[in-house]
Amino acid sequence: MRITVWYTSFMLVLTAVVFATVAVVSYRLSIDNVEKDVMAQVSLVASKLNSFERDVFGKVESDEEFKNVSLYDANGKYILGQYNYDIANIKFEDAKMRRETIDGKEYIVYDVFSVNRRGGMPKPDKADSGIWIRGTESVNSTAVLRKTAFWVILAVIPVILLLAALGGYYISKKALLPINNIVKTAMNISSKGDVKQRIATTAGAPRDELYNLTVTLNAMLDKIEDLINREKQFTSDASHELRTPISVILAQGEYLAEIAQNEKEAELASNIVSKAKQMSDLVSKLLILARIDLKRQNINAEKVDLAVVCDIASDAAEVYAKEKNISITSDLGENLIVEADETLILSVFTNLISNAVKYGKCGGSVNISGRRGECITTITVKDDGMGISDEHKDKIWDRFYRADDVRNDEYASCGLGLAMVKAIVELHGGSVAVRSKENEGSEFEVTLKNTLKQSE
Ligand code: ADP
Repeated sequence: MRITVWYTSFMLVLTAVVFATVAVVSYRLSIDNVEKDVMAQVSLVASKLNSFERDVFGKVESDEEFKNVSLYDANGKYILGQYNYDIANIKFEDAKMRRETIDGKEYIVYDVFSVNRRGGMPKPDKADSGIWIRGTESVNSTAVLRKTAFWVILAVIPVILLLAALGGYYISKKALLPINNIVKTAMNISSKGDVKQRIATTAGAPRDELYNLTVTLNAMLDKIEDLINREKQFTSDASHELRTPISVILAQGEYLAEIAQNEKEAELASNIVSKAKQMSDLVSKLLILARIDLKRQNINAEKVDLAVVCDIASDAAEVYAKEKNISITSDLGENLIVEADETLILSVFTNLISNAVKYGKCGGSVNISGRRGECITTITVKDDGMGISDEHKDKIWDRFYRADDVRNDEYASCGLGLAMVKAIVELHGGSVAVRSKENEGSEFEVTLKNTLKQSE
């Protein structure tokens, strides 16, 4: 739009300048022509008079050729030819082209005094001493022409401008289409994070700078996608490879704990076991995330009763909850059955409930509630613990993100739990949200479709 406005304004100025120049030049030319014409007629009559051509009087009187000429005697008295009271009253000046305005009318006037050199003019007798030959032409005819041109221009300019604006808009829209495509794709990629998208190119588009830019950006996106895929693959391979050594460390740590000879050995062995468990937990979360990223995570869809799943997850958190004197209560409605992958969904609620206990306050409570709607089922895990500040609320879903105050070993946290929860829920076509107030508690709400409709 801006280009069109600029371009149209420029066109307006340009057209105005061109028309003004043409008008001035053509006016000047038409005046020049009139002057030349008048001068030619007067000169012709003068030369005829000088060569005693008698028929010149008859010609001046009636010939179209001399329509602008009139003759006066040496005293300025009208003899014959074109007569007009105004013209007859203009002062005579020999051989001087000039413009005179009488009664608001403008005339081009040219006089020549023809002296009676050979002893008397042929005719009429009154012209003894000589004759004034006067050529005149009203400038009004050119003014009419100018006025007409002015109105034509006034009518033509808007049409030209309208056409220029429409044409300019169409051309700039077409020319900027590739940029529009680039912006649209960039916005899509940044909002949806889908690096698979590419900038569309129009078939038969000219191989210009914008085309080259589109091709280069698409090649860059190919490279970025390739790098991201390689990174995902690396995470998947690394987690996979780590599983076996971690299981061996865990098994041998447990064995060491069993055969420990003294307290010190038992403490060391239990340390190994606890850290190996943490590593194992981290690696399995990483593996699930990598599989979801690579779109290789299968969903073994089956009817899952979320009430049962929540009970199992609560039981898993019970030991720790008892340590913190936290009571886990539930208010689960009827028929919380959805179509989902039971193992994956169990890990969602295990994480949410264990987080609620982990970040809940000692002596507090954790409540799990669930409702079935017409198309969706919602489960809420609520605690009255430390809560999450606004600053952290958006970031807790990021991988390896932990709020500053929980970055210590006490919580044995790695910051992958919620990232995995979100990925699994979204894989099932559902959503997860948090409501929380610092020092008052948090409420995580998982919404799942009753019938499985996988997201892309
Ligand atoms: P982890 O618990 O292993 O650190 P998560 O991804 O489960 O990782 O959680 C990320 C961060 O979100 C936690 O470090 C914590 O700061 C915050 N968080 C999660 N659940 C709660 C909760 N119920 N109450 C307060 N903070 C929470």
